[in-house]
Amino acid sequence: MIHVLIVEDEKPIARLIELNLTDAGYRTTVCHNGLAAAELLTRESFDLILLDIMLPGLDGYELLESIKPTGTPVIFLTARGSVSDRVAGLRAGADDYLTKPFEIVELLARVESVLRRAGREEEKYEIGDVTILPRSRQVTRAGKPVILTQKEFTLLLLFVRNRNIALFRDTIYERVWQGELEEESRTVDLHVQRLRRKLGWQDKLVTVYKVGYRLED
Ligand code: CA
Repeated sequence: MIHVLIVEDEKPIARLIELNLTDAGYRTTVCHNGLAAAELLTRESFDLILLDIMLPGLDGYELLESIKPTGTPVIFLTARGSVSDRVAGLRAGADDYLTKPFEIVELLARVESVLRRAGREEEKYEIGDVTILPRSRQVTRAGKPVILTQKEFTLLLLFVRNRNIALFRDTIYERVWQGELEEESRTVDLHVQRLRRKLGWQDKLVTVYKVGYRLED
């Protein structure tokens, strides 16, 4: 099922979009705050994001910066008449925009058209000789398939989506295993070691002293 993230702080609008997309057969998640959306995007992937520009926390433009590397299509939701918003939005890399207030038929048409266009190119990451296709869960190294467990794959995606950022060991644990890390647990370290070995990332997946790990790219 196509999963759409709705980032909109005006709750009645968010609710309206949610109801109509759900009726049209989409799976939806709603976020009313830019920071919460940024956090959510580090651990979940979506097929499409409807993104309001003026948001508490982080605004739509700032959020778009972190969405772009994932390749997820974005439709900006802009206030009526703010032409500069639209131009800036498209220039910043949004796939389309929708002016509020909008007709539901228009919303659905834009969503369909952006998804259709985006369907041609699957989200893909290339780091050194490693290629990762999140949706089909395929990982190759120098063209050869790499077999990863579910947790290893989730961990890999977390690193890939947060390249060059030091991730705390307990944050990693929480995101991948959804629980609190016991102090003596070696789970994260063992999984990192396996990823290093399977992907040849001894130099890329670096240990950050007293913090955790960072994927360098
Ligand atoms: Ca707003």
